[in-house]
Amino acid sequence: MEIKVIKSTKIGEKPCPPDSELGFGMYTTDHMFLMDWTHTDGWQNARIEPYRSLQLDPAAMVLHYNQEVFEGLKAYYLADGGIGLFRPGKNIERMNRSARRMVMPEIESEFFLQALKELIQLERNWIPHSEGTSLYIRPTMIANEPALGVRPSNQYIFYIILSPVGPYYPEGFNPTRIFVSDGYIRAASGGVGEAKTSGNYGPTLYVQKEASAKGYTQVLWLDARERKFVEEVGTSNIFFCLNDELITPPLEGTILPGITRDSVIQLANHWAMKVTERPIAIDEVIDSCKSGAMKEMFATGTAAVISPVGEIGYKDENIQIAGGQTGELSRKLYDELIGIQYGRLEDPFGWRMPIG
Ligand SMILES: *Cc1c(COP(=O)(O)O)cnc(C)c1O
Repeated sequence: MEIKVIKSTKIGEKPCPPDSELGFGMYTTDHMFLMDWTHTDGWQNARIEPYRSLQLDPAAMVLHYNQEVFEGLKAYYLADGGIGLFRPGKNIERMNRSARRMVMPEIESEFFLQALKELIQLERNWIPHSEGTSLYIRPTMIANEPALGVRPSNQYIFYIILSPVGPYYPEGFNPTRIFVSDGYIRAASGGVGEAKTSGNYGPTLYVQKEASAKGYTQVLWLDARERKFVEEVGTSNIFFCLNDELITPPLEGTILPGITRDSVIQLANHWAMKVTERPIAIDEVIDSCKSGAMKEMFATGTAAVISPVGEIGYKDENIQIAGGQTGELSRKLYDELIGIQYGRLEDPFGWRMPIG
C-alpha cells in the first residue's frame, strides 16, 4: 500500500519550547499518519496529513466499550547524526497481540514499520537534540463504527502521532518512593492486563492520586486474587536485586510484557548474572529490604528506561531499600541501555535500528 502525503502549510507555527521545558507528551508535531479499516475492504487510505482533531460520531464504539489499543516507543538522534529506533519490531508485534485480544484487526508489520519511518523522517526537525531527549511515538487504534450494541466494531482507524519529550531525569537519576496498593488491583488473571489497551489505565488513576497525595511517585500493584505477589509498578515492570540474583515476576497474563523488561533480562544474562522470572511475594520483598538482602529495586519502561526505587510504603510502614540510594546495577543498566539507544555504545543484540 502506498502512503499518500499531504504536507502541512503551517510548518513552524506550532509551539515547541526549548528542550528543557518539553516535559512528557505535552506537544505534538505537524503531521500524523492515518489509515482506515472496514470489514469489507481491510486497511486502506494510508496517508500522512497535517495533525488535526479526529471526527468521531458520539456513538463511536471506542467511546462506549473501549475497543482501543496503543503503543509507546521513541526515536532518537544518534551519536552519528542519524535517527534511530529501539526494537520497533517488538512494539509492532505487541500491538498486534493487543489487537487480537481486543478483536481488532492486525497490521502487517513491514507496512507498520514503513509508516513509522516515513512519518518520523518527515518530522525529523521535531526530534530534540539534547542529552536524554527523544521523540515519543504513539501508535493508536480505535473502533470508530457508530453503533451502540456490544459487539466488535466493523470499522477502525489506526493513527500515529509524535511528541517531542524532554529528559526524563532533569534533576538527576534519583530514586522514587512507591506505594503498595493492597486494596485496589490493576489486572486479574483471564483479563486484559497483558494488552496495552486504554481500559487498563483509567482505573489506576484513583489509586495513583491517593499515592501522590501521600508523597509517593508510583503505585506498586499486587495480584488480584490474594494481594500477595508483586506484579508491576505504575506503567512499568519491576525488578529486584536480591543478594546477587535479579528477580522479576513471570509473564502469566496480568503483567504487560515490557520491551525494556526483556532488554534488561537479556543484558543481565549477557553479563552472566543470575536472572529468575518467578512470583515474588510482597512479604519476601519487605523482609529482604529489612534484612539488607535486597540490594536494589527498580522499574523498567520506555519512558524512564530504568527508575530506581528508594523507598516502599506498605501497610503504614515505610521501608528503605539500600539506604534510599541509587544502586550500582540500576545505573549500569541505565547507562548501557541509553548508550545503545543513542548509538554511543556497541549494540551486540542488534536492538538499534537506524532509519536515516
Ligand atoms: C507500556 C507498559 C510497560 C512497559 O513496557 P515497555 O515496552 O518497556 O515500555 C509496563 N507496564 C505497563 C502496564 C505498560 O503499559
